[in-house]
Amino acid sequence: MDYHAFLADFPDTYLGVGPADAPRIALTFDDGPGAATPALLALLRDVRVKASFFCVGTAVARRAEVIAEIVRDGHDLGNHSFSHVDATTQSLEAFWHGDVVPATVQLERLAGRPVRLYRPPYGEISPGQVRRLGAAGHTVVGWSIDPGDWSEPDAPDHVRRVIDTVVAQAHPGAIVLLHDGDDGHVVRHGILEIVRGLVPRLRRAGFEFVGVGDLLRLRERANRR
Ligand SMILES: [Zn+2]
Repeated sequence: MDYHAFLADFPDTYLGVGPADAPRIALTFDDGPGAATPALLALLRDVRVKASFFCVGTAVARRAEVIAEIVRDGHDLGNHSFSHVDATTQSLEAFWHGDVVPATVQLERLAGRPVRLYRPPYGEISPGQVRRLGAAGHTVVGWSIDPGDWSEPDAPDHVRRVIDTVVAQAHPGAIVLLHDGDDGHVVRHGILEIVRGLVPRLRRAGFEFVGVGDLLRLRERANRR
């Protein structure tokens, strides 16, 4: 997402990477909830990993009960738009009233708490849209590692390639882009194997798993000093 250089102009609203003072890493899961999400939540409980879920309104409508489970398990919950359209094709009003607000209202009703983390579909967003989100107290969340788990999930070495990419690029404050939502009718079962293999390797490398909300609070605290 950092290919949008203008995001550097929004240091308070945009979070593309966390503070680098300690080996923390945030696993983020986009496009859900999907058919694989309940099993992913069980796996994360098993391995005691906190993560962040950026959910899409249309997917939430199909699996509303999963949102409460995400919250109950202590994960961070974010808005990934209502309909997963490229925001830069929308007017500011359509973006705000047709996409961000409906998804926020839906998620907050199910979660029972404010949802102020927003990740734009495809990372595409305009400066005016970032300004609007910031004015309403939202944080725009990007990523610092994209292992391409969305691409060719049926390739024979897909799981190993995704895991190796994350491990090779892992850095303190990293935000890792992963996907648990269905791709059309295709269920992303591979995400389970990816997480099962990835977590012990990152742990062995000394990383602690945090939510993006934790990274945001740590950054705000550092800025106040
Ligand atoms: Zn997405």
